Amino acid sequence: MANLLVTGGAGFIGGNFVHYWNARHPDDLVVVLDALTYAGNRSTLGGAKAELVEGDIRDTELVEGLLRDHAIDTLVHFAAESHVDRSIVGPDAFIDTNILGTNSLLKAARTVWLAGTGVAHRFHHISTDEVFGSLGPNDPAFSETTPYAPNSPYSASKAASDHLVRAYHHTFGLDVTTSNCSNNYGPYQYPEKLIPLFLLNALHGRSLPIYGDGMNVRDWLHVEDHCRGIEACLAKGRPGETYNIGGGAELPNMEVIDTICAEVDRAFAEVDGLAARYPDAPAAKGEATSSLKSFVTDRAGHDRRYAIDETKARAELAYAPERGFEEGLRQTLRWYLDNENWWRPLAARIQ
Ligand code: NAD
Repeated sequence: MANLLVTGGAGFIGGNFVHYWNARHPDDLVVVLDALTYAGNRSTLGGAKAELVEGDIRDTELVEGLLRDHAIDTLVHFAAESHVDRSIVGPDAFIDTNILGTNSLLKAARTVWLAGTGVAHRFHHISTDEVFGSLGPNDPAFSETTPYAPNSPYSASKAASDHLVRAYHHTFGLDVTTSNCSNNYGPYQYPEKLIPLFLLNALHGRSLPIYGDGMNVRDWLHVEDHCRGIEACLAKGRPGETYNIGGGAELPNMEVIDTICAEVDRAFAEVDGLAARYPDAPAAKGEATSSLKSFVTDRAGHDRRYAIDETKARAELAYAPERGFEEGLRQTLRWYLDNENWWRPLAARIQ
């Protein structure tokens, strides 16, 4: 049995992780620490067996108290400012939460876990493939030894946090692992990110804004595959090591957007009553969802291509993604259609 502290557990990936963990390890204790920023949502944890503590990861004393009071042995760190576009508008929150916040957690873990008792512990840090910078079309995919070259304030702040995690292992002996993953998608994702934004825009007949030429390439990872990857890191990852976790679906944005359009059209053909629920959708009027596509000015400093080489995770963790992109996207769309109560209040906020 393990006692977990999950930071950012009311967010997209953290929330999915809590549900995943409950299902796979029903006897474990799960405590969530989340500041409930715009991206955190109590209802994401509906039905979860977890105690939600509303608080800030930068509150080191609070974190120390949680580690002690709940005899936490495993800290899984998701909490972050996570949206690249927001980091371009205002980098400060990214420095505060992603760098200072991670340092605060590490300090607390060091104080409590390394206080002479030598208790077995694990600090697992969730990071991104964006720390490696941008690839050309023929460059080899990112491996764990690719030099860091972050290009956005978001990825720079994540890179700094990765280095701090590494340093606490090498300097103080904290048992840490880090996973660098690709773009996640799935249930409970805040509708400012590409896939839920485009799904909801398509349902409401709003334009689908495509950055630049739409040919930026990303690897897409279903969030449940990601959770399996994290579980494998916790079970088999070697202290001090980093692991790349990918979805095996390297795609240009345009292909992702075309798949979304096709899946929305398909849902309207297959699911009764959608035209009445979403009368502004082109699909409700017999038109193609792709008619909503529109090109907008590219994101500043937009990285061209990310790709993940997950040879190490396959070899050491026996990790491999299980969900194909089309299947995962279809399930995600159907989840949003079935869970309007979850997204409706959030979508109203970002229009
Ligand atoms: P998210 O924005 O959906 O959720 C972040 C959560 O952290 C929210 O619940 C928020 O309330 C909480 N939080 C923010 N600041 C906090 C603070 N100071 N104290 C406590 N809680 C705070 O993010 P996500 O998409 O779930 O991403 C989770 C992690 O995975 C992040 O570290 C992110 O960098 C990383 N990541 C995400 C992706 C992706 O595709 N979403 C890809 C690679 C890596």
